[in-house]
Amino acid sequence: MAEFADDPHSHARPNEIAVGHLHLDVTVDFDEQRLTGRATFRLDRTAADADVVVLDTWDLEIRAVTDAAGAALDHVLGDHDPILGRSLTIETGGADTVVVDYATGGDARALQWLEPAQTTGERFLFTQSQPILARSWIPCQDTPAVRHPYDATVRVPPGLLAVMSAENPTERSADGVYSFAMPQPVPSYLVALAVGDLEFRPLGPRSGVYAEPAVVDAAAWEFADTEPMMEAAERLYGPYRWGRYDLLVLPPSFPYGGMENPRLTFVTPTLLAGDRSLVTVVAHELAHSWSGNLVTNATWDDIWLNEGFTVYFETRIDEELYGADYTAMLLRLGRQALEAELATLAERDTWLSLDLAHRDPESGPDLVPYEKGSLFLRMIEQVVGRERLDAFLADYFDRFAFRSMDTVTFLALLRTEVLEPAGVGDADVQLEAWVYGPGVPANAPEFPSDAFDRVDRQADALLAGTAAADLDTAGWAPQQWVHLLRVLPTDAPHAVLADLDRTFGFSAQRNIEVATAWLELAIRSEYVWGAAEVDDAVAGFLDRHGRSLYLRRVYAKLAATPRGLDRAREIFATAAAGYHPVARAGVARMLDAA
Ligand SMILES: [Zn+2]
Repeated sequence: MAEFADDPHSHARPNEIAVGHLHLDVTVDFDEQRLTGRATFRLDRTAADADVVVLDTWDLEIRAVTDAAGAALDHVLGDHDPILGRSLTIETGGADTVVVDYATGGDARALQWLEPAQTTGERFLFTQSQPILARSWIPCQDTPAVRHPYDATVRVPPGLLAVMSAENPTERSADGVYSFAMPQPVPSYLVALAVGDLEFRPLGPRSGVYAEPAVVDAAAWEFADTEPMMEAAERLYGPYRWGRYDLLVLPPSFPYGGMENPRLTFVTPTLLAGDRSLVTVVAHELAHSWSGNLVTNATWDDIWLNEGFTVYFETRIDEELYGADYTAMLLRLGRQALEAELATLAERDTWLSLDLAHRDPESGPDLVPYEKGSLFLRMIEQVVGRERLDAFLADYFDRFAFRSMDTVTFLALLRTEVLEPAGVGDADVQLEAWVYGPGVPANAPEFPSDAFDRVDRQADALLAGTAAADLDTAGWAPQQWVHLLRVLPTDAPHAVLADLDRTFGFSAQRNIEVATAWLELAIRSEYVWGAAEVDDAVAGFLDRHGRSLYLRRVYAKLAATPRGLDRAREIFATAAAGYHPVARAGVARMLDAA
């Protein structure tokens, strides 16, 4: 069997020559919005007689390709593929090192350059390489199947701090030159860089947070549980293998909740809710230090082995820290969101084992790999017992550390090491239906929640005529408010919604989860069209936030009616300039299809 999985999203041929180490030396030019530099690759010959190394590129200007001594090497850029970009094929002439001088192009999709107006005061640059955008800022073998250590020299305007998914400085350098080392092997999608007016605050002996000065103290308060989360994670599935675990709070246009860049998770500022109610995202990104970053999906079709395991692990950390009742609420909300997405997907996109060949992997399902994957593991846990599954997972993360995993190999392990010893066959758990079938099979576990039962009773009372002010909502968690807003029917009387908004101020909500649930309800019930302040709240939300999934949730509700679609297009026309390219493309794709 070949050492590296065939990846439909990369031109690289690592079964001939694989990159074994990268040294990056780049200069960050904010005025030209360009990185220029040199990538030096040490090569490993997987096939002894191989002489060609193939890299992925996207809109890169290749200026020179040489060996370590500076002798030019023959190379050719392939035709531009609209999904994969251009291959860079280099005749190594037997060299073990190749050096590529390059600059990024105008369509460097991994890079977002922010002006001071889009931050709390200074220019900012950050990268987002997952899934296949690393090739737009570094020539690389851009497949999760290939991993190697890297180090880097990064030159930035003096006064700004640069950080990477690596060992990081905590102080600014006088000359704007920073050196980085990532000694553990990582795939290209986990190479990350950010440059900005950043300060550091420690959270624990091996954790801390970087953010712009205006938010760094709020961030340190919000993420105070990071060290206890690390301890809980280690109790569950073994030692943290990456040295430090720091967080970087990005400006609002960051398109994700978090990105698990090793040693330095990138997070959205929407987590700074002021009440620590959204820190499950930190548990999620931390869990990636095992699932995803340590044991990595071989291709993007296997992403459930990364995200599904991470949601499972995340909720196990939550359970350790905050208890089973709290976690049951998160699991219920996850299932609700999954069901809402399933209703919108083509059937093939609802399998755990995806088929993303000839597509942008970003166009795949958002939640299926996460929530259906996590449900699958919860189901296995119910059948074989938590102790047995935990023992397997702890061993799995250790045995396959710094390696990639595909669906077929994982299922074979699951059968021989978990199911068969427990006397369980494929059919007993509907294994085929879960992995190679649509939707959620009937043996999915349920998550009873007293907290949600209380909400359901209040929702009934509200619809039966009880005034919002008379509802029993004392001490509700944000998750309960989200549940209330989701269970209210689309034909809920507008007078009831007006009473709710007056009483609880949903249109002014800061918590992004509660705000999204409210706007979705106001739009699907068409209440928004009779309430100017709610319409303003919709426009304000879509202008202020940059988290792709939440933007698309609100836009999707708008796009469901002709009037809403017009409004969506009108808002998008002005708000899109502030979005990250990934978020902008996702919303545009959705509005075009509407
Ligand atoms: Zn994740």
